[in-house]
This record gives sequence, structure tokens and C-alpha cells, in this order.
Amino acid sequence: MIFELVVTLCLGEICQPRVVPNPAGAQTEASCQRTAQSRAQAWASGFPNATTPGITCTAIEALSDRAATVIETSPGHFVHFGKVESVSEGSDGDVANTGFIIGQRSVAVIDSGTTRANAEALYLALRQQTDLPVSALILTHMHPDHVLGASVFRDAGALVISSAKMPRALAQRAAGYMAGMERLIGLHQIHGTVPAYPDVTLSAEMTLDLGDRVLDLRAYPTAHTDNDLTVLDRATATMWMGDLVFLEHTPALDGSINGWIDALTGLAALPVEHMVPGHGRMVSAFPEGAAPTLEYLTSIRRQTREALEKGESLSQAVRHIGLDHAKDWQMFEEFNPRNATSAYVELEWE
Ligand SMILES: [Zn+2]
Repeated sequence: MIFELVVTLCLGEICQPRVVPNPAGAQTEASCQRTAQSRAQAWASGFPNATTPGITCTAIEALSDRAATVIETSPGHFVHFGKVESVSEGSDGDVANTGFIIGQRSVAVIDSGTTRANAEALYLALRQQTDLPVSALILTHMHPDHVLGASVFRDAGALVISSAKMPRALAQRAAGYMAGMERLIGLHQIHGTVPAYPDVTLSAEMTLDLGDRVLDLRAYPTAHTDNDLTVLDRATATMWMGDLVFLEHTPALDGSINGWIDALTGLAALPVEHMVPGHGRMVSAFPEGAAPTLEYLTSIRRQTREALEKGESLSQAVRHIGLDHAKDWQMFEEFNPRNATSAYVELEWE
């Protein structure tokens, strides 16, 4: 039976039980007890002025109500679907798709959710499936809903992997992301959340072998962001798209509309049959699942170029670009004007 170290961490007035994975892998009750005090103290020393009034070793079964819901979409391939909503007041930050893939020797996790609590939930779901070590946490890009929970998997001994451009992009924004999360969802929800930076980065391609289970990682030129990365599970021909593909949730442009269209067009040549979008609650066939994102972006680009040719100002153009797609997407009012603005600013200089 697997036991986890649970540390009641007090930060100011707020005390919450935090699951602290063991870097050396899954533990028995005896091995957990033997190192509980020293591990708890070492871990809590990363939080200024923290106290740890409770330190226990708890059976994984007793933590099942805190585990994320995951779906085994093919053997050894697990997806947790985040809610299709924004990180906003009342949210728990669980809005991006995350998951894990289990090989013969180890497990790789893809994205971590917004908060430490989101990532602990994913970790507990993983431990319900396997006691193998967690060798890698792969981050698909720097957006907070995908990466801010990462420290849980670093604690678990995982190598944190991203695109080469991700650390700089995150460093420039991390303070703003944390302040934004504190304001939007509050200190209770982000309790224990600390940005974690990658250990290993790639600028083109990289292969990970989990033991008879090979993952192909690929970094892209600027598209959804300047640090997008995809993960292809060869065994199932399933690609984790990060936010290169959205379903349900309106795509959000934070990179280059030309680059994003190029990236999606280039994917067609790869041996991919299924895909996990960054947002949207389904594993879809590929390329069909990527078509709505590509159609939306292509349409925004065409309409923006037309507006520029007519000499429309930014404020005139943003009033109509993309509106014919409103019925296709959720949270359209929130994201479409921003996308139109980004596209206009980019394409103005063509
Ligand atoms: Zn994103």
C-alpha cells in the first residue's frame, strides 16, 4: 500500500494540509514515517515564516476524495479534463487539460494546472494507478493555468521539461501571474503554489523513453505563445497539443497568428491520429479536432487583412473581426476582441 506525506502548512493565517510527494518514489508506511519529520521540515523551509503543526503519513486510499478525476483514454494514457471556464472569481484554477502516461519504468506528467492543489489532485490520481517513479513533468507553455502547480511534480522527483523559450517567458510574467491569481481566486486556492522553472529545455525535438513507451516532444516557433511544445505518445499516436488546439473554449492568441496557422498546418504531416487539446473536454480524432481552431484563426487573419486594406483603425476593426464565429465558441466575448487586437497589431506591419 502507498503512503503519502501530508504536511499541514500554515502560511500566515491560512493552514492547509499539503501532499508532499517523495522524490525517491512511492513509499510504504514505514519508509514514510522514517523520513516524515526531516522531509516536512526541508520542504517547508522553502516557504518564508511557515509553520507545520501537523505531519502525517496517510494511505493513498484515504486521500481518494482529493484525487483528480482522470479518464484512461487508451491503455496507460490518462487525461484530466479541466473545466471550460476562465480562471476567475470562484474558480479553483482547474481549467486546463492535464494528464499522465505510464511506461514500464516510469511516468510522465503533462502540465500541472494552476495551483498546488490542482497538481496534488493530479498526483494523487496518478498514485491511484501506479507506484512507478514520476520521471518527467512536461510543460506545454508558460500560461499559468498549465504550469503554476509544477512544484508538486518537482517534489516527486520529476525532471521539469519545457521549450527553451519557456523559462524566460515565465520569469517575465510569474510575479504578475501570482498577483493575478491571488486577486482572482484568492490565497486559499493558491495556498502553497510557487512557480517552478524547467530543469531541461528543448529548442527543436527530444525523445523520452518511459520504458517501452516513447514520447516525442517538439518545440515550435512562436504560435499560441513563443514557447509552445507538443507531446506525441507513439504507442497510441496521440498528441498533446497544449494550447495549439482549443475545443469549446475560444482560442486565445498570445504569440503570432501567422506562426500559429503555420504550426497547425505543419502538424498535418505528422503521424498523429488522436489529440488532446489544451482546453475542451474531449480527446478528438486528428486532424479533425484541430480544424475549428485553424478555421477560426484563418478567418481572423483574412478579416484583419481586409480591414487593414480598407484603412480601418484598430478600434473600428476590433468591433467586427471574427464576430461570425461567436456561436462556435464559449467565452467568445472575453477572448475574441483580444485576438482581433493581437492580429491587427501583428498584421499591420506585413
Ligand atoms: Zn495557453
